[in-house]
Formats: sequence, C-alpha cells, structure tokens
Amino acid sequence: MPETVAPPQAIAPLTIRMHAADNVAIVANDGGLPPGTALPGSGLVLRERVPQGHKVALVDLPRGTPVLRYGIPIGHALDDIPAGSWVHERLLQMPEARGLENLPMATVKPEPLPPLEGYTFEGYRNPDGSVGTRNILAITQTVQCVAGVTDFAVQRIKAELLPRFPNVDDVVALEHGYGCGVAIDAPDAVIPIRTLRHISLNPNFGGEVMVVSLGCEKLQPERLLPPGSIPLVDERNVADVGTSAETRLDVVCLQDDAHVGFMSMVDAILRQAEEHLERLNARRRVTVPASELVVGVQCGGSDAFSGVTANPAVGFCTDLLVRAGASVMFSETTEVRDGIAQLTARATTPEVAQAMVREMAWYDDYLKRGSVDRSANTTPGNKKGGLSNIVEKAMGSIVKSGSAPISNVLSPGEKLRHKGLTYAATPASDFICGTLQLAAGMNLHVFTTGRGTPYGLAAVPVIKVATRSDLARRWHDLMDINAGTIADGTASIEDVGWELFRLMLDVASGRKQTWAEQWKLHNQLVLFNPAPVT
Ligand code: CA
Repeated sequence: MPETVAPPQAIAPLTIRMHAADNVAIVANDGGLPPGTALPGSGLVLRERVPQGHKVALVDLPRGTPVLRYGIPIGHALDDIPAGSWVHERLLQMPEARGLENLPMATVKPEPLPPLEGYTFEGYRNPDGSVGTRNILAITQTVQCVAGVTDFAVQRIKAELLPRFPNVDDVVALEHGYGCGVAIDAPDAVIPIRTLRHISLNPNFGGEVMVVSLGCEKLQPERLLPPGSIPLVDERNVADVGTSAETRLDVVCLQDDAHVGFMSMVDAILRQAEEHLERLNARRRVTVPASELVVGVQCGGSDAFSGVTANPAVGFCTDLLVRAGASVMFSETTEVRDGIAQLTARATTPEVAQAMVREMAWYDDYLKRGSVDRSANTTPGNKKGGLSNIVEKAMGSIVKSGSAPISNVLSPGEKLRHKGLTYAATPASDFICGTLQLAAGMNLHVFTTGRGTPYGLAAVPVIKVATRSDLARRWHDLMDINAGTIADGTASIEDVGWELFRLMLDVASGRKQTWAEQWKLHNQLVLFNPAPVT
C-alpha cells in the first residue's frame, strides 16, 4: 500500500512511495515541484524541477544501483544520481525480461477470500444462461465489403424501426476489416475468426444473430458461424435444425441473384432486423446476482499514477467481484510480462500457471517475428507521465488484477466459461484488447487512464477511471470515477474500489449511463490478426 507523506495544507509538497524498500518516490502535486522544495518529514531538498508523476531519488544512487519501485528493480542507474534528483528514463538501464523457465508455479496458497453476498443487478437473462447489461441488436458482417451497405441500413433501422421497439437500446453494425484477402487457412487465422464468432454471441446481443455477407469472401457465413455454434435454445432454432446453415443464420447475401438494385439489399436487411427487434423488445430486466457480471479491466494512456491510484482501486474492486462470484478478466500481455513470476505463483494449479507461460511464450515469439520486444510498448505519453519503461508500467498495470487467485487462462478470441479471475491474453492496444474481451463475453468494461482517453465501445458500457484529480476536473464529462482522490489523500483505495463496485451495479442495471454512453463515443472493433494477408 502506498505510503503518503501528507501535506499540512493542500499546496504542500506531496510524494508517494509504493513500497518500504523503494529508493524513489513520485511527485503527486499538480504541475510538479520546483528546485529547492523541501520534502516534509525527510529533510530531502529537490535539486531540480520534478514534473508531476515523475520520480525523485530519495537517497544517493551510485551508478549501477538498482532503482526500486513497487519493491522491484525497474532499472539500474546509468550514472551517479544524487538524492533529490529527477530520475527519468534516460538515467535508467532497463532490466532484461525474466526467462520463462523455473518460474514459481501455483506456489501462493492464500486464505480463500470471504464470500460477498447479497449484491444484485437488473440484467437481461439470455436463453443460454448468460446475462446482458444492455439490449442491443447486433448485425454481424463476414467481410469489410458490406460495411457501407450495412451502415446505410442501420441508419434506416434507427430512424424507421427502433422507435417502435422502446425496450431495445441500440442497433450496432459489427464492422471490421477482415474477411477478404486473408490467408484463411493459416494456423493463426483461428484468432480473428473465433473473435468475430464470439462477439456475435456476446450476452448484450441476446442470442439474436443476423449476418450480412457479400458472397465471394474468404470468410463464408458457415465458416464464421458453423452449425452448432449458436446455442439451440428456443423453438425457433430447434425448428430450424436440419435446414441449411444460411437459413438458420439469417444471412442477407448481397450478391444473391434475388437482389436487383441497392434498395433490395437494404430492404432485406430491414425485414430481417424487424424480426429480431420484435424478440429483443419482448425482453425485460430481471434481478440477478452480482455473480453474473463478466468484467473486462484494462488501462490506456497510463501515467505514473495509474499504478498508485486507479489500478489499485480497480484491483480492490476485482477482489470484491471475485468474492461475489463474478467473472473478471485482466489482459494486456506486454504489460504483465515483466510480472510473470508473480502471476504464475498466483495460479490456482500448475496447469493454469503453465497456460500463462504458454501465452507469454507465444507473444514473445510473435514480437520477435516483428523484430521488436516488450519495450516497444511504452508511448511518448507514458514517458511524459513519468513511466520510465515497460517494467515500471507493468508493475502498475498488474495491480488491476487484485490479489485473488488466477483460476483460468484464455487465448486471444476464446470465450470465457469460468467464474473467478481469468488472465485473458490480448495485446495491450486499447481497441484490440477491448475487442477480444468483448469476444470473451464481457458485459461490463472498466478502463483506467492517466493521460486521458475518450475510449468507448458500442456493445458494452465502459466505466472510465481517472488516475489524477487534474484529469478528472478537466475531463469532468468523460471520466466516470476520480481515483485521484487517493493521491490527494481525501479517499482510500478501498473507498474508491467500493465506489466503483456500486457504480458497476448501477451501470449494469441501466440505472446509470457512463459518459461514453451518453455521448455515444464508440471506438471501432479492431481484430487481432497475427496471420498473413494475401
Ligand atoms: Ca490498453
């Protein structure tokens, strides 16, 4: 837990040290601190200006000394660094990534967390047992070629049909860049294909699958959604058993001979949409236990506060969710790679730990094929925000996973079928991570940001958590929760964690909308395609 040197008044110098062994602390004050500032309690005087979120040396650090944050070396001093100096990335030699051999496998056996009972939300129970937090008609597409036509049809559905179906929240075209010109039989093509398949089956779409296809594309409808991939759960589907996959799938194929003219295609999409809208409109929210939440957590636009305020609060909330029997996914492989030993130790079984190693090894190799490594992750904004390198960023990112045992691992694009804490392997890219967590079946998304991003998804509510009060003030109509209060000393990690938990139940129930929902800020789906294109 962070040790905060509390200021006697609001403008006093404020630094935060995360671990008793740390030989650096970060400056919390808005605008940073000028040279000559005396840090209360330590007798330390700043030798130079230190920007907000950046590190100050608490002791003399001779060349070669490990620089410790979160109690672990985030680098070694490249030069003698006197106490009171600004410790920035140019003064640090980043450590090598830990190898994937001889890791502690399922060695941590924590006391089971006490169950958290009695929390519920109002959700849409689906025939397959999953629960939606929104009631949305999704239109699946097999290929990018149909995107324009589908979008045209969606505008008409919204204008002409949706007003008649007030219980339906939205109509969403699942647009993507895949399907044409792809090496469809490449081994890694399984990732984008199953991602699209599983997104179509996201709980917020109520099991109503309709597809728009061009006709000549590599990704044919029956390959995207083969017979049996859609659960046979109601009379309609049972009656359709034995008919062709196209019939069961409700496919509008634009190259079909029956279509004469553009409007014929659009009208066909509208006719199909109306049937699905009627069924979706008949659904009602029912009270369900909090264990039906499937939460994806991620961060983007991180700064040095991410790992001090927002991510620890999310981690506390992750533990609350696991205690309530819910499903939580954390992801972003390059941002947890440096903490692999912590993660394998926290696995419930050696098999789960081994699955994590398998995903990390696959990703190491994927990066190597592109002639880069994990150090390619940090952005100019991360560094400006005080994060020197990926090791420091990773230590702050992992805390989103809280302290619960890790009981399950997903490969990219797989569907989540377990309660508890899951490591869902994804790239750290915000849109790709969000897209893969959608495929896994998340019905609520939590996103922390320090630099600030207006990120949002059309399919699932996104709750955004600001790491700093300055960002929360400036982006007051984009950030849903301010975790900067933790650095200000006006709230604890536990306070913000509970605030987030309660907000999640309100948002999941539809009682509250997130800012991204209110403004309809929808980022594109971005598929992870490690396979070649032709
Ligand atoms: Ca991210």
